[in-house]
Amino acid sequence: METNQNRGLMASIFGMRCPRCREGKLFNTPTFSYQKPTEMPSHCPSCGQNYMPEPGFWYGAMFISYIWTAFACLFFVGFGIFALGMSINGAFIALVITCAIFFFWIFRISRSIWFHIYVKYDPLAKERN
Ligand SMILES: [Zn+2]
Repeated sequence: METNQNRGLMASIFGMRCPRCREGKLFNTPTFSYQKPTEMPSHCPSCGQNYMPEPGFWYGAMFISYIWTAFACLFFVGFGIFALGMSINGAFIALVITCAIFFFWIFRISRSIWFHIYVKYDPLAKERN
């Protein structure tokens, strides 16, 4: 019955796996290859979960992205100014560079979080497929 030992929730979110089986990958290419960064398969290769459950589904990920990056940016700039003694301009330049580098990672993690909120984990999904 137990095939692959089950991935934890955090490992599944940050490993960008299918929320239903926690095995199939959500994206076709590695994040930092920067090739086809937004491309996803239409269904989970492992359990068959539809990766587009309803029209406009991924708009929700935009709000997830906005919420957590707003706090992360605030912390980043605050840390630069108060802990590292950077100037305000310096902290914001560092922020913009960091956001540019991690842009697609942020995009993907936000989709992964959103999908994991929406779809329930089903350890037997793969067998049932
Ligand atoms: Zn799956």
